[in-house]
Amino acid sequence: MSIFSGLETIVETGYPLANHTWYGLGGPADYFIRPRSVKQLKEVVRRCNENKIPIYVIGFGSNLLIGDEGLRAAVITLQAEQFKQTQFEGELVNAWAGADLSNLVLSCVQKGLSGIEALIGIPGSIGGAVKMNAGGNFGDIGAAVEAVTLMDNQANIFEKSKPELMFDYRRSNINAKFILNARLKLTEGDPDQIMKTVKEIWIYKKNNQPLNSKNSGCIFKNPRGLSAGVLIDRAGLKGLQIGGAVVSEKHANFIIAEKDCKSRDVIRLIDAIKQRVKEQFDTDLETEIEIWS
Ligand SMILES: Cc1cc2nc3c(=O)[nH]c(=O)nc-3n(C[C@H](O)[C@H](O)[C@H](O)COP(=O)(O)OP(=O)(O)OC[C@H]3O[C@@H](n4cnc5c(N)ncnc54)[C@H](O)[C@@H]3O)c2cc1C
Repeated sequence: MSIFSGLETIVETGYPLANHTWYGLGGPADYFIRPRSVKQLKEVVRRCNENKIPIYVIGFGSNLLIGDEGLRAAVITLQAEQFKQTQFEGELVNAWAGADLSNLVLSCVQKGLSGIEALIGIPGSIGGAVKMNAGGNFGDIGAAVEAVTLMDNQANIFEKSKPELMFDYRRSNINAKFILNARLKLTEGDPDQIMKTVKEIWIYKKNNQPLNSKNSGCIFKNPRGLSAGVLIDRAGLKGLQIGGAVVSEKHANFIIAEKDCKSRDVIRLIDAIKQRVKEQFDTDLETEIEIWS
């Protein structure tokens, strides 16, 4: 009997992960699974455990580089209707993991709720954003998250809230396999003023980031007190190309995937940048994107 018998409608085999990443790169996953409910998710996890199949959880794939060989694993995404819901109650928002972050920012603007305007234009899901503490110069999501509902790799569901829940620069202390939803505490404000802030941040991003290209946002974390983009620029690496991967002329911390680019091109370019920055500034760059291979 097949491993996922009875779950055929939510399981695809040999699924090209390039279809599910912002880079448009990455080989096939043995199983790509879209559970429609928490009950189904639990069943999927149980079957994976029983059959010793490694599990990866993918959001919108905007902070990922997946290897050309793909993954001998089950890649699970929480993007069915159940997992996309958002519920508003006064200044509290309960956002499920598969909800779209930018859409949530806009809904909050309409409702006159302030606190996550800085996240406009980040093309992630709530699950991915909370896990990575998405944000930037203008603030991050962790500041608004009060509590999360999690599920571990044995399918146990539990809550974690502040102060036990902690966020730092592009990381959280959430180690459970699945973030199911997050409760955000916002503050009431003037919708026009909130919209003005959102527009200003959006224009800043459009002017400074190569948004109309295949990329995965910033490749490297900023070393303490420094800007990774400035270091890469000063090392003269803008425009450096390996295969189909090229350092953006607009923002040196972005690597763009051009036609026929492979994940291995991006990885080789990342290594080349690290080496040149180390030689020139004696600084070790750490990747912000996750590489799954
Ligand atoms: C053009 C562009 C601009 C960007 N700008 C920014 C920016 O300004 N600031 C910023 O911080 N990031 C930025 N990013 C990176 C990225 O959008 C964010 O990190 C985003 O939060 C990732 O969300 P995702 O849903 O795509 O997660 P994915 O990339 O799919 O996954 C990222 C991580 O989160 C985990 N994850 C995803 N969903 C869940 C879940 N439900 N439960 C548990 N773990 C989960 C994954 O396993 C993985 O470890 C940018 C990316 C692009 C392409």
